[in-house]
Amino acid sequence: MKLFDVYPLYNVTPVKAEGSYVWDEKGQKYLDLYGGHAVISIGHKHPHYVQKLTEQLHAIGFYSNAVQNPLQVELTEKLGRISGCEDYNLFLVSSGAEANENALKVASFYNQKSRVISFNSSFHGRTSAAVAVTDNKKIIAPINAHNPVTILPLNDAVALETELKKGDVSSVIVEAIQGVGGLDEGTPEFFKQLETLCKHYEVLLILDEVQSGYGRSGKFFAFQHHNIQPDIITIAKGMGNGFPIGGVLIGKHIQAYHGMLGTTFGGNHLACAAAISVLDVLEEENLMANVIAVSDYFVAAVKDLKGLQKIKGKGLMLGLEFDEEVGELRKKLIYDEHIFTGGSMNKKLLRILPPLNITIAELEPFVKALKKSL
Ligand code: PLP
Repeated sequence: MKLFDVYPLYNVTPVKAEGSYVWDEKGQKYLDLYGGHAVISIGHKHPHYVQKLTEQLHAIGFYSNAVQNPLQVELTEKLGRISGCEDYNLFLVSSGAEANENALKVASFYNQKSRVISFNSSFHGRTSAAVAVTDNKKIIAPINAHNPVTILPLNDAVALETELKKGDVSSVIVEAIQGVGGLDEGTPEFFKQLETLCKHYEVLLILDEVQSGYGRSGKFFAFQHHNIQPDIITIAKGMGNGFPIGGVLIGKHIQAYHGMLGTTFGGNHLACAAAISVLDVLEEENLMANVIAVSDYFVAAVKDLKGLQKIKGKGLMLGLEFDEEVGELRKKLIYDEHIFTGGSMNKKLLRILPPLNITIAELEPFVKALKKSL
């Protein structure tokens, strides 16, 4: 058998990792400023994470959602407290797409409507409804295209109200900061209008925090920069620091009933142990303060780079937009300077998503490498 060949691959084979670094099979060290698309939140192989997962594996790794699992309760309480979202209920899943799929489904169950509004350049995953609300025709198969979806420009409250007025919209889904699309985001005014209009027309507001959440923006959730309260929030990526886990935070006004949702793997013992250890480290090591300090340093250090047009994003979810495409620059960074960075749908944008505990000293070589390579 061979692998189904869907990924263009860099010729690098990481075999070990620690903190902000990975090593290939020849012992070459790389600075990891990408964390496999914002997944590595507390750094590779964090000792607390390793210990928690190892202990859990020796106790019980998995049992189904048909029995009591106190780890799910511990995770839920901790997440509620640290995120400031105690007034939500949590449904645990295993990926970002699954989180969004369930969020859209919960909204549709709640108001018995089906049309969804999403925005230009959005990315919400590759499963049925999640891919249908994603703004990329190339990844929407005919079977997905039947979902009723309207994609609008970001920051256009008039267009939004025109659609909501029609009365058939179930939910609006929006990334607090766009990831795959290229770090664009709604203005604070637009987020406020979005909240007001959704409330007025009784449409549920879903904030996709799969990439921007978990402290990456300097606040636990990036929507918290705008002082709004979504009906539903979705999470994944940084939540497990590499262990597959996701979640749907569901507003208290939405009632659960037995059989409404379900999953085999979601919230299993190992996944909960991973997610609890991430929250422990976020809190004990005060990582959101580190995000802000390192981000401030970095933004000041790169602002005069040759060809740089704009710095997008917040905290350690940053995009450097240049006047030219960055494909060649990324290759130079990885093969010559041994630094992983990310791309996006915007070909001129270099995406930077380091672990939240990266230090200024660890980022300095990247600033030097950029100056040298540009
Ligand atoms: N939502 C956002 C904002 C994402 O960036 C992604 C992945 O990049 C997803 C959803 C899908 O997550 P997953 O790949 O875990 O299904």
